[in-house]
Amino acid sequence: MTETVLAILNQPSRDAAPHDPDADAFWFAAPLEEHVQVQDLGVIRGDGVFETITVVHGRPQALEPHLARFERSARMLDLPVPDAGAWRRTIEAVCAELDPVREGFVKTVYTRGVEGSDRPTGWAYAAPSGDQTPARTEGISVVTLDRGYRHDVERTSPWLLQGAKTLSYAVNMAALREAGRRGADDALFVSTDGYVLEGTRANLVMSVGGRLVTPRTDIGILAGTTQADVFRFAEDAGMDTSYELVTLADLDAADALWLVSSVRQAAPLRSVNGVTRAMDLPLTERINEFLLSREA
Ligand code: PLP
Repeated sequence: MTETVLAILNQPSRDAAPHDPDADAFWFAAPLEEHVQVQDLGVIRGDGVFETITVVHGRPQALEPHLARFERSARMLDLPVPDAGAWRRTIEAVCAELDPVREGFVKTVYTRGVEGSDRPTGWAYAAPSGDQTPARTEGISVVTLDRGYRHDVERTSPWLLQGAKTLSYAVNMAALREAGRRGADDALFVSTDGYVLEGTRANLVMSVGGRLVTPRTDIGILAGTTQADVFRFAEDAGMDTSYELVTLADLDAADALWLVSSVRQAAPLRSVNGVTRAMDLPLTERINEFLLSREA
């Protein structure tokens, strides 16, 4: 078995023709060989969507919420609706072939395909995750960066695709490098009108007087699958939760902060803009235990 397991979907959407009418729904392929055509719009324009799904002991976590967001993102880009059944089977197949590691991930990629072909491209691959322990136990530092949009961008300018998980992550990666230049591990985006949005690849969760609070999801950010499960954990534990407009003053006043996402799970923030923050490590440990033992 190889470390990375790749499968290519023959017909990623029922609304488009299969790539090969005689082939199976998906086929395994050697991950390091060329499969994507150089003119694929996913490659040359970032015109497509993706998901990254945590895998624990071979089991994909929060699979249905990820598939629902995958479809939502595809619809926002006017892509043919992904065939959830075909994607689910492909994801399960690559997970089953993955070496028995404790933690891994599956990435699903769905593009508009080669220009003029009217056939979207789809593939999924699974691989082991690197060691996430330091971020979870020692925390991470972040700086706030202006995203350049107001918090109502999703409503005023839907063509900017804020809130869709598109393949165009060059901006997020540039923000991550800027955070590095400022001596931090990651960035937290803020809207031009002063509302805290999300990380470059994660959502913000705050502990405020015993409640868990996260920014509202209608402000041009991704609705996180991990954040939703953190709230499920909190509600099971009898804590109140809420989606709010969060200002920088609210961020300063919070008791503890986390960036939460697939793969890394809950990473406590140990500093924001160079200011040390209190971390709630016992709660962090309980949250991560819950996240890593999810059945679905
Ligand atoms: N926000 C952004 C911009 C992301 O890229 C991600 C995940 O990659 C998230 C939030 C968190 O989403 P999830 O918890 O579903 O992984």
